Amino acid sequence: MKGPDGSIVPGYGWVFPAGNGIVNIGVGALSTMKNFSDLNLNTMLEAYTAQVRDSWGLGEFVARPKAWRLPMHVEHRGGPGWVVAGDAAGLVNPFNGEGIDYALESGRHAAECFLTEPGTAWAAYQAVLRKEYDPFFATARRFAWLIGRPKLLQFLLGIALSTNFTMKLVLDIMANLVDMEHPGLAGRSLTIGGKALSLADPLLVRSSAKSKAKSATPVG
Ligand SMILES: Cc1cc2nc3c(=O)[nH]c(=O)nc-3n(C[C@H](O)[C@H](O)[C@H](O)COP(=O)(O)OP(=O)(O)OC[C@H]3O[C@@H](n4cnc5c(N)ncnc54)[C@H](O)[C@@H]3O)c2cc1C
Repeated sequence: MKGPDGSIVPGYGWVFPAGNGIVNIGVGALSTMKNFSDLNLNTMLEAYTAQVRDSWGLGEFVARPKAWRLPMHVEHRGGPGWVVAGDAAGLVNPFNGEGIDYALESGRHAAECFLTEPGTAWAAYQAVLRKEYDPFFATARRFAWLIGRPKLLQFLLGIALSTNFTMKLVLDIMANLVDMEHPGLAGRSLTIGGKALSLADPLLVRSSAKSKAKSATPVG
């Protein structure tokens, strides 16, 4: 989406009806983007609201906007006698911010593991997460870092939106709709892209350390 100054921001805006003539409106951006600490989400929300005001017939805000971070990686997801699922396990798709299906699925996996063998359930659950989710999420996190560079994002968007075929391919990959048992072109692209992106890991680690140091620097 477009930032307040017209620049491209890796993120999206949404409006959905919440009943009684009220809508939920919001904007989200990837915190891995370059200069994220300079981004003002309130200003971005105002710009987005102005953009959709007429088509949705929007009035005034009925509540103060709130901000929330979507957790896309968590180190500790369980131990003897306990596990976490969904957001608490960092299961939010970095490609698109979706977490509802992963929350339901991981909750079901956790329940199945405890019902099967309570004593070792947490280890069995880790194994399921590592097999079913970690490879996709690792690739998606690397990609999220990549599209945090505005010029690269613009270039990749140009390719992704160029034809219906590339749009469908990108949607299948980003929404995790690929069946890895029958990968097809989307699955193969995901595997090759994941391997290629993993080569950039040293750069990613350096850049994330730099941005952490920057956001930790006191201002004023
Ligand atoms: C603005 C926004 C838009 C989103 N849009 C989408 C979308 O379009 N599609 C999608 O798939 N995902 C979306 N997500 C992500 C999705 O909402 C979450 O990934 C999903 O709800 C995670 O489910 P969960 O059960 O893990 O956590 P939650 O839904 O957060 O549920 C956790 C619950 O635990 C409760 N709780 C917390 N602490 C305690 C406590 N100490 N004791 C008892 N209860 C407690 C909380 O009140 C909450 O009800 C969006 C998230 C946000 C913030």
